[in-house]
Amino acid sequence: MTMVPTANTGLESLEFGAARIRVDDKKIINCFADLNQLVPFKYEWAWDKYLKACANHWMPNEINMSADIALWKDPNGLTADERMLIERSLGFFSTADSLVANNLVLALYRHITNPECRQYLLRQAFEEALHTHAYQHIIESLSMDQSRLFNMYREVPAVAKKAAWALTYTQSLSDPAFNTGTPEADQRLLRDLIAFYVIFEGIFFYVGFVQIFSLGRRNKMIGAAEQLQYILRDESMHLNFGIDVINQIKIENPHLWTQSFQKEVIQMVKEGVELEYQYAVDTMPRGILGLNAAMFQEYLQFIANRRFSQIGIAEQYPGVSNPFPWMSEIMDLKKEKNFFETRVTEYQTGGTLVWEEEET
Ligand code: FE
Repeated sequence: MTMVPTANTGLESLEFGAARIRVDDKKIINCFADLNQLVPFKYEWAWDKYLKACANHWMPNEINMSADIALWKDPNGLTADERMLIERSLGFFSTADSLVANNLVLALYRHITNPECRQYLLRQAFEEALHTHAYQHIIESLSMDQSRLFNMYREVPAVAKKAAWALTYTQSLSDPAFNTGTPEADQRLLRDLIAFYVIFEGIFFYVGFVQIFSLGRRNKMIGAAEQLQYILRDESMHLNFGIDVINQIKIENPHLWTQSFQKEVIQMVKEGVELEYQYAVDTMPRGILGLNAAMFQEYLQFIANRRFSQIGIAEQYPGVSNPFPWMSEIMDLKKEKNFFETRVTEYQTGGTLVWEEEET
């Protein structure tokens, strides 16, 4: 077995008198330059996203939940199907962001050997905590059975399958003996990045987003819808950051992006689309709110096409279009006002709902 030098973590013993950092020494993975020095920047896009994410700061408890509470308590306020959809969405989301956070902190972070990317990862990790906080806040506000909702990913098959699928990729990296530095190991890292950024955050959240925004558009659960709008804004940036990291790793390590690896990636994304479609069917078996399973099939294929092209793979679902054009309105508009207009307090550091230019 060939010995592979273990890449930097930032916790190595101090090298007193060592030379200053040169920008050309910096690399996203397998970098041997000191990781405790943020500058000089090499990846301006990572620092930029860190700054934008900080400018978008928000807190879940600033959003007024009183209309949701009244509606949820009103026995005639929502249909049984709508209630199930809301509970399943919260059931999925309530553990999903913990999985993403744990992947970031316990699996991914150690292997991303670039300080400006790590700076963004630290901000992202906090945002994942905020998202879990938001779901907890909604669940508590509505006096739902908290343990039932949070345990849904171990009780409802369509929710469990998505989580179980993603966990295999993070487990591959969280092994303490795992290190990058061989093509095989670096591909394992890339697989985790694709599984979490492109598929988990880039596909698995979108049925839930469409469902809750559909309620919000009908003036139902507007507080929850607004919480999710803030979350979607954060998630768009997580996704765009992940895409940038993946593409930069490809540029620096073209030998990893083999034909067979690309085939595997296509397969992973297609599996993700199928799992998310099953989740759509399972959460709305009868089709409500003007939504039905066929529309989700097309929507997920439409999103998957965008994800493929974002990482340089040809679109795999020809001829599909977006059946929910209003989603791009929610996502792409530069808004000075909140879409659902429920926020009652101004955040002191000025986290207004303005969207990043990049496409999601
Ligand atoms: Fe996220």
